[in-house]
Amino acid sequence: MSKLNEILEYNQKFVEEKEYEQFITTKFPDKKVVILTCMDTRLFEMLPKAMNLKNGDVKIVKSAGAVINHPFGGIMRSLFVAVYELNADEIYIIGHYDCGMSAIDPDSTLEKMKQRGIDEKTIETIKYSGVDVNEWLKGFDDVTESVRHSVRMVKNHPLMDRSVPVHGLVIDPTTGKLDLLINGNENR
Ligand SMILES: [Zn+2]
Repeated sequence: MSKLNEILEYNQKFVEEKEYEQFITTKFPDKKVVILTCMDTRLFEMLPKAMNLKNGDVKIVKSAGAVINHPFGGIMRSLFVAVYELNADEIYIIGHYDCGMSAIDPDSTLEKMKQRGIDEKTIETIKYSGVDVNEWLKGFDDVTESVRHSVRMVKNHPLMDRSVPVHGLVIDPTTGKLDLLINGNENR
């Protein structure tokens, strides 16, 4: 059975047996918090558990490396929607140690694209059109520096409500231990 069919089959049972009832909540985060974190598989269940969060408590936005790579991109927009439309009044940016985005080599990614049939010319055309593809694909060397940078970007965004604290943390993906880098309640 394909993965898709397996999922759909399970899903039918999930709905029929009303498994969803335990998750019923609203779109508004009860704890009025929005979290930006990494898409890492180890954090999927562990991060909420390590922070004592359950369904309905918070909004979680995810990106590779918890990176906001554009001040007017989808990640930033998600944070604004959480703050202005869904009543989040605190922002947590949580990177993690041993993040895959600290080891991304853009040249190697581009090489893999070529191996999988993407034409070299396509990549060149995108580069000539002004997109710095290498910079765009690049991750970071130091997760703490990356989190600090993201906190600054959110805090100093011209559309951000200055009264919203922006915290910066790094989580250990094995133990769940949080290291506080920036306490957004200070120096607001
Ligand atoms: Zn990561």
